[in-house]
Amino acid sequence: MNRLLVKYPSVLRWFYPDRITRIENPKSIYLTFDDGPVPEITPWVLDQLREYKAKATFFCIGENIKKNPEVFQQVISEGHAIGNHSFYHLNGWKTSTSKYVHDVLSTEDLLSKKYPVKPFPKLFRPPFGKIKNSQARKLSKEGFKIVMWDVISWDFDNNVQKETCYKNVVENASEGSLIVFHDSRKASKNLRYALPKVLKYFSEKGYEFRSI
Ligand SMILES: [Zn+2]
Repeated sequence: MNRLLVKYPSVLRWFYPDRITRIENPKSIYLTFDDGPVPEITPWVLDQLREYKAKATFFCIGENIKKNPEVFQQVISEGHAIGNHSFYHLNGWKTSTSKYVHDVLSTEDLLSKKYPVKPFPKLFRPPFGKIKNSQARKLSKEGFKIVMWDVISWDFDNNVQKETCYKNVVENASEGSLIVFHDSRKASKNLRYALPKVLKYFSEKGYEFRSI
C-alpha cells in the first residue's frame, strides 16, 4: 500500500498561512469530526467525548443538519463547536466559485435560522480538502476562517486497517494538532476502534481536548 499522507504538507502551510492547521496551545489537542451529524454514529462520538470531558469541533454538512436536527441539537447542547462543511459536500476543484460559495452560505443560513445567536465562530472546512483560491478568497470576505488539519486519521478509507488509523493519529499528533476524524457511516468501523484509544492515550499524557 502507498504511504498515506497523514501529516498536512508543510509546503501548503507555507503557501496558505491563513488556513488553520494547528493552534499553538500547551498540552492541547483539537479533535474535529467531519460529515455528520448522523444518528448512527454522532451520538456515540458524543458519549466517548463526554467520558473524557473532551470538547471537539464538528464540521457538519447542511444536508445532514436538515435531516437530523435532533442529533445536531445534541452536539450543540454538549458544548462542542460547530463548523460549516458545505451543504452537499461539494468538491471545490470541480465546482464553480459562485455555486460553491452559495452552497456554503446556504448551510450558514440554516445554522443562523436555527440558532439566531451563534455561540461559535464562522469556521469552514472544505470537503475533500479541495478548494480553489477564488473560493477561499470569497469565503474569507464573508468572514470565514478556512480550517484544514495537521493530522488526518484516514478513518473514512475502508482499505485502511483500524489499527493503522489509530497509529496515524498517535504517531503524528503533538501539542496543538488539529486531527480529522469523520462521524459518518463509512468511517464508523475505524472510528469505533480508534477514537476511544486516542482519547485514552492523550488523556493519560495529560492533554486536554479542546474545541476550536
Ligand atoms: Zn467531508
